Amino acid sequence: MIYLMENKFCPHCGSKLLPVETPEESTWGGEIHMVCFNDECRYYKDSWEHMARCGALSTGYRLGIDPRGSRRPVLVWSSEALKDHIVNPDKPLSESEKVYLRKVGYILPEDWGNL
Ligand SMILES: [Zn+2]
Repeated sequence: MIYLMENKFCPHCGSKLLPVETPEESTWGGEIHMVCFNDECRYYKDSWEHMARCGALSTGYRLGIDPRGSRRPVLVWSSEALKDHIVNPDKPLSESEKVYLRKVGYILPEDWGNL
């Protein structure tokens, strides 16, 4: 349960990571990942060129940490991609969402609502 608390900040740019609900139809099947949404993050900025060299045009990735604590690239197709999947800190969480977040190891911060 502890690792996400320890990894709340991006190891590349130091930004606060935000919880993102992955799409049900994705390979992560609705898991919540912690993702760096800093558009100035070196990891993210370099990703576009790296993907282009691999032949994947118009694709980049952001730093993500999965519920098991592993770092992994989260693919995006624009700077706005996935932002509509950020678990909205302004929206009160339903009980089932809280249960889920705790289950995957995300301990709700006291400043939830002021991220
Ligand atoms: Zn970052």
